[in-house]
Amino acid sequence: MKTLRVAFLGLWLTWLSCATAATWAPAPLQSERSRFQETGTYDEVERLCVQWSQRFPHWVRCQTLGQTAEGRAIRALVVSKSGALQAASARRQNIPVMLVIGGTHSGEIDGKDASLMLTRTLLQSSAADNPLRQMVLVLVPVFNVDGHERRSRFNRPNQNGPREQGERTTAQRINLNRDWMLAQTPEMQAMLAWVNQWDPLLTLDLHVTDGIRYRHDVSLSMSPMFSENTALRQLSTQLHQGMLKRLGDMGHLPLDFYPVFNDLEDPGAGIMQEVESPRFSHVYAVLKNRLGILVEDYAWNDYASRIQTCIDTLKSAMAELLQHKQSLLKVSRLADEQALFWGGKLVALDWRNVYENGPAHPSGVIALQGYRYEVHEDAPVVGGRRVSYDVTQPDVWHVPLYKNVRQSGDTTIRLPGAGYIVPVAWASRVLPHLQRHGLRYSTLRAPLRALTIEALRVNDNDVTHEATPFQGRQRTFVKGQWGAEQTDLRAGALYVPINQAKGLLVAHLLEPSAPDSLSSWGLFNTAYEISDYVAGHRELELARWMYAQDPKILALYGETLYQQLPQWRQIYDERLAREPGFLEDTDARMDFWMSRLPSFDPQRNLYPIYRVNQSPLTGHRRL
Ligand SMILES: [Zn+2]
Repeated sequence: MKTLRVAFLGLWLTWLSCATAATWAPAPLQSERSRFQETGTYDEVERLCVQWSQRFPHWVRCQTLGQTAEGRAIRALVVSKSGALQAASARRQNIPVMLVIGGTHSGEIDGKDASLMLTRTLLQSSAADNPLRQMVLVLVPVFNVDGHERRSRFNRPNQNGPREQGERTTAQRINLNRDWMLAQTPEMQAMLAWVNQWDPLLTLDLHVTDGIRYRHDVSLSMSPMFSENTALRQLSTQLHQGMLKRLGDMGHLPLDFYPVFNDLEDPGAGIMQEVESPRFSHVYAVLKNRLGILVEDYAWNDYASRIQTCIDTLKSAMAELLQHKQSLLKVSRLADEQALFWGGKLVALDWRNVYENGPAHPSGVIALQGYRYEVHEDAPVVGGRRVSYDVTQPDVWHVPLYKNVRQSGDTTIRLPGAGYIVPVAWASRVLPHLQRHGLRYSTLRAPLRALTIEALRVNDNDVTHEATPFQGRQRTFVKGQWGAEQTDLRAGALYVPINQAKGLLVAHLLEPSAPDSLSSWGLFNTAYEISDYVAGHRELELARWMYAQDPKILALYGETLYQQLPQWRQIYDERLAREPGFLEDTDARMDFWMSRLPSFDPQRNLYPIYRVNQSPLTGHRRL
């Protein structure tokens, strides 16, 4: 890291020589005062936010996104020398907005110090190529403020400094880095409102690694595959490659993905690129036809080197954003317009590394700059199979690389022709999410009768729940068959058109198979619960009539069900003969018959959101 340290000093000399704000002698940050052994408390962010906005009222605004769970203000600095310090004027003048978020995981705090130092330098610099002349930097130095203030020297045992740092989760113990879709925290709800207001073209989320010990100092992850727009995917890849090149030219060793071991205890088994889902900021941005990058500094580099790496990453992002400014602005807006015609389009809502689905061929061999390692079959002290590293022995690992990413088949769906209907019973649950994400919807003012919809009927075995809660929620996976039905709707139902700029986000929230849909986060789980019961003696009576094909069943439930009784009896008898477990489980035997009756619970196992191929706002008679 010696080279980088030299570059670090060089950077400041260069910038300062260009400074015209010579009379401004800002106090050093706590990180600088402590020679990068410490990081400041949140007071420092508050103080700088106010001081800089007072010192440079035409260049800096100090704003508040909202409050944390513990009532702290989440500050943002809006910084630009373009003359635009408001979202509307940036949009009107075609000035790109770059959102930088530090401290999402507030123990990984390089991003705060790096972004503040870079911002201060850019404020001082009158250089003609100062990127602030052509863009708006929207900087949230610390997103997880409550976590930032729960400082301890024991918080990140897998990281080399600063001496004390904050916690990963919020005060409610939610991981903000997984909350972009569900937005269950006050912090994320404030951030989404902020993002809706500013509409950043590029978002950088600044983190520090938790994984492999290697010599690469930063990884940049992007997920352009989630976009349905070819030009945006291409530009995204260009910007990604451009940043990697710039970082390489500055002496860094960047990776273009966050590497994950196929076998956590054996680097030799190969390295995989995992696909993140829209709960992460960098994927979420893509659903809105924008760009997002997950930046991970390498945890075991010392704090000073990590800050320098982060500054260089930010500089690279600014340079690339400005280099592609015109085409990025044009293409992202075109993507918004094209999304107005996506009804009926076939789209992939999730992607998987093929390696995750079973044996796969590697996409190549990576020469990863690592260290010598040892795989212990019977590890010291604790036993078991574990890996250890000798960081005095640099080594290059030539190991199989798995980067083949494919659409996940069961989440490739055809979007509805018009949009989605949320019946009024579920409207209050869904509406806050539509509003938080800034989506367009209409509320039905009058009832509708016999509306043709597509409904998803789900079988019991097709609803699975993750055993352990995640983010305090019961993750749920739902399969079933969509089929045409007719339904009546009460006034107050919501219609969410798919043909809107953020139509892909609509689908990701409302299609149950999408990885971070409201359904996947368990919001509709009562739809699949048994909530009605029949007295035991009545169940026995009905079961006996069904088994015997008694005409009383015909009278009660009609011809169609009655005609199926012989077939059901045959299945039942076969299962009794074949499955000892079934034979002994008398509750399951009763359920076999009861679950086939419409009295069982007609609303059960109906996914509560419908697709529609025509807008219910036109062409239907209102009552
Ligand atoms: Zn992180």
